Amino acid sequence: MKYHVDGELVPAENATVSVEDRGFQYGDAAFETMRAYGGSIFEWSAHAERLAGSCETLGIDHGLSDAELRKRIRETLDANDLADAYVKLSISRGVQEGKLTPRPDADPTVVVIVKELPRGGVEGADVWDEPATVQTTKTRRIPDNALPAEAKTHNYLNGILARRELVEGADEALLRDAEGNVAEGAASNLFLVGEDGIHTPSLDGPVLPGITREVVIELADEAEIPVYTGSYAPDDVRNAEEAFLTNTTWELRPIESVDGIEIGGGPVTNLLSRLFDERVERRHYDGD
Ligand code: PLP
Repeated sequence: MKYHVDGELVPAENATVSVEDRGFQYGDAAFETMRAYGGSIFEWSAHAERLAGSCETLGIDHGLSDAELRKRIRETLDANDLADAYVKLSISRGVQEGKLTPRPDADPTVVVIVKELPRGGVEGADVWDEPATVQTTKTRRIPDNALPAEAKTHNYLNGILARRELVEGADEALLRDAEGNVAEGAASNLFLVGEDGIHTPSLDGPVLPGITREVVIELADEAEIPVYTGSYAPDDVRNAEEAFLTNTTWELRPIESVDGIEIGGGPVTNLLSRLFDERVERRHYDGD
């Protein structure tokens, strides 16, 4: 396996960053998790834009164009002969003199990691195409005025602490905001299906603007399924007709149960999953 580190393709075992790197020291870094289908990055422009926003929030000026970042991803996929892959692009502030206060003389570290990820997951290794068992957690989502959820940074302790609460067999932690409304999963967005359409927590709350979330909203609009964003209590999830999670690797993942209460997928989740598949096929395999 080869990874891209600071402009060089290096064997994975030699792909290292300094122990003084601020991504390691403080989580002072931004990243994107993407998926390559047929060699092209699904929703690249949206990922590039979100990464730029995260870097702006952190004040990391890496000085690379989106085209250069895309080129490094393509080189990493090509070097590993991968077409369908998980792709992680991380940009840390790098090493700098001094302590916590970020300084403009830091030299950002840019890393691309890829792993094979065929559609449907890697057999035996992952089960994310199975419906998810979800658990609401005591750990609350960090409020936006403490750490803006829209910035996808290397500081994932909030989700890690929530997932530490999971009982045996649970797949995803569902975090509530400071008011007790559901916000999102540790690494996923939440959708509820009601008789009137689909619902998802508003981005006014501490919710990462998921790229998959946005695609699902677009697909629902095209299919004339009404989409609502708002505030939802844990009981709204438990009483939903259907519910599902979204993220780049899971795509749409039905929620089997939350806190032991059965929900399950259903016709709307199935329809949106099929539309999502068609979009991937059309854009990445049929040369649309
Ligand atoms: N919310 C959080 C906290 C995440 O970490 C992720 C993805 O990792 C998502 C939502 C889903 O975002 P996306 O669809 O862009 O993968």
